[in-house]
Amino acid sequence: MSAPSPSRYGLGTAELETLIESWGEPRYRVEQITDALYRRRVPLEDATNLPKVLRARTTEALPLAFDVATEATSTDGETIRWLYESVRDRAQVETVLMRSETRASVCVSSQAGCAMACTFCATGQAGFERHLDAGEIVEQVVRASHGSPQPVTHAVYMGMGEPLANYDEVWTSVERLHGDLGMSARHLTISTVGVVPGMLRLAKERLPVTLAVSLHAPDDELRSQLVPLNARYPIAAVLDAAAEVAGAHGRRVSFEYACIAGVNDTLQQAGALARLLRAWQGVGGAHVNLIPLNPTSGFSGRAPTRARVRAFAERLREAGIGATVRRTRGVDIDAACGQLRSRHPIAEGTPVSTTMEP
Ligand code: SAH
Repeated sequence: MSAPSPSRYGLGTAELETLIESWGEPRYRVEQITDALYRRRVPLEDATNLPKVLRARTTEALPLAFDVATEATSTDGETIRWLYESVRDRAQVETVLMRSETRASVCVSSQAGCAMACTFCATGQAGFERHLDAGEIVEQVVRASHGSPQPVTHAVYMGMGEPLANYDEVWTSVERLHGDLGMSARHLTISTVGVVPGMLRLAKERLPVTLAVSLHAPDDELRSQLVPLNARYPIAAVLDAAAEVAGAHGRRVSFEYACIAGVNDTLQQAGALARLLRAWQGVGGAHVNLIPLNPTSGFSGRAPTRARVRAFAERLREAGIGATVRRTRGVDIDAACGQLRSRHPIAEGTPVSTTMEP
């Protein structure tokens, strides 16, 4: 049985060079192709410095992994969401581009669906479909770059899926975004719900990527209700592993906290969270990103009032913990945190939504 042909962004530079050279192309042509695909990040059909025949051959040998199922732009024009469908097996994933005046961040999916089953997250509610491979992750970043007037300098692994449950492919994609696309490791953020073995592996990696940990509760009892994985890796273990990563990479860790009215949003809980994170030994300290809950069909909770979230943030700051209330972006196109979900046949007719933010 022959191996399936690689997708367009599925080869590292060296393998890509070997392939093009095997066609008898001169060195400068090889460089023009890698330059177009990775450095300049232009669609192959726009790489007009390449002869038509060579463009056609490359297009055929290296097909894109995804078709675009839908593309939506928020009314303010700052957020673009793509729903992609795998050419190979029709698995669906979502990618979100978040633009500012000078730069753009892309939020990528690492899996189609997710097995972590966090109760308030649309992706978790829909269940796991499959892992993405590194080429599929890189393709999301490159194609978001094609759609962005600003340079895409940041990538956050906060789309569908748990990146550390797909460690090898995710890490290969990180190395490719860094090495082939020239993105700074600091500008690559891996967000995890607390997969401790993956975090410990991350601490041993050479590239100092940024870590975000989805915490959502100051105590194990509540966290276990929101995040089933907490039964396996409780808060203390997750914080220890996060400290290892912080120490190894010398970078501050962010803690994500989805604020849910009447569940985890009291000032008492803010105080408990501050104590927990002040006692934490992570290099660079902790920063909390508060995300007012985005609605999903499978969870009845709602976001607290704006004032309440602000008061929660204020309590953290008073206790010496930096806190930011995340601006909710892309809600009008269902591209906000935790709203991303694959549209399984079973979920036909349910709104397609998304996740994240840098
Ligand atoms: N699995 C990884 C990355 C994907 S989720 C992780 O859990 O970190 C990206 C962020 O969105 C996480 O912090 C997640 O907890 C949060 N999130 C999920 N559902 C949400 C919702 N409905 N409202 C607000 N944030 C949500």
